[in-house]
Amino acid sequence: MKIICIGRNYIEHAKELNNPVPKEPVFFMKPESAIVRNNFPFFYPEFSKEIHYEAEIVLHICKVGKYIQERYAHTYYDAIGTGIDFTARDLQQKCKEKGLPWEMAKAFDGSAPISEFIPKESFTSMDDLNIRLDLNEQTVQDGSSKDMIFTFDQIIAYISQFLTLKIGDLIFTGTPAGVGPVKLNDRLEVFLDGRKMMDFKIK
Ligand code: ZN
Repeated sequence: MKIICIGRNYIEHAKELNNPVPKEPVFFMKPESAIVRNNFPFFYPEFSKEIHYEAEIVLHICKVGKYIQERYAHTYYDAIGTGIDFTARDLQQKCKEKGLPWEMAKAFDGSAPISEFIPKESFTSMDDLNIRLDLNEQTVQDGSSKDMIFTFDQIIAYISQFLTLKIGDLIFTGTPAGVGPVKLNDRLEVFLDGRKMMDFKIK
């Protein structure tokens, strides 16, 4: 399986990192070894001094597809979860300045903790899903899929021009504004439409 992540999919987040608002989705990938499940702690890596959280809605792909049309894209994912796209912002900044790939900053071990996945039928709408992150009991990110620049269906249609989507692939759909650093012993709780999806600590 593979993990595909969308960058800059919320206008306010693109602005907070001084990035231009994209005209087409920006995507990058993480390997399977980035995944952490079951609220296992995130171990702060030695190579960075500035790890940022990015809470995101995550789609679970349920069908093989290539060149998927936007109007059929909704049939290619069956369940929704949440994830954190942990980012070594200090390394990412250096990569950006040099025009280098982002993998060292985005794809490292443990950089993609994920929740359980819930069948999408149990949500009333895909167009206004709320994603919230509480850091040490304070809400720091609070966004909705209605504020995304590219919808789930547009993302799937776009990505599948380049990559064959396969069963079990995950798509991180971008983060709302409010990203920031984590430190040792921080507690992260992620909520999807008010349901608690994740609760883990930084170690
Ligand atoms: Zn992200």
